[in-house]
Amino acid sequence: MESRQEIAENLQAHGVLPTPQRLEVAELLLKRPQHLSADQIIEKLRADGSRVSKATVYNSLKLFTNKGLIKEISVANRRRFYDSTTHAHHHFYHVETGELTDIPVESVRMLDLPPLPKGTEEDGVEVLIRVRNKQI
Ligand SMILES: [Zn+2]
Repeated sequence: MESRQEIAENLQAHGVLPTPQRLEVAELLLKRPQHLSADQIIEKLRADGSRVSKATVYNSLKLFTNKGLIKEISVANRRRFYDSTTHAHHHFYHVETGELTDIPVESVRMLDLPPLPKGTEEDGVEVLIRVRNKQI
């Protein structure tokens, strides 16, 4: 686990001013590889006795995403998760539990990609595999 000092340096390295509130949000999310929704983050912060406002959490997540410190993953129905792992990887999304699990990038092989729209270049391919429990 990164120390508060290391997290502050990490924020600065991404051009984010490490205010105490941002540090609280960053510390919670970056302490391990995980995927959390904004509501889950707020819930965990409250459980830890934090008083960071909802708006500050949302603003911090937006800023962290824009600065490449975390990754935003959209799943069905406008649900959004924030991923502390920013390098390229894929996900399983369990539609019943709402849980996201990482898939290493090398275990998905893309064979046929369509031609890209005119005047564009590829900016990455990320796969989200939706799963559900087997019906018995
Ligand atoms: Zn992930």
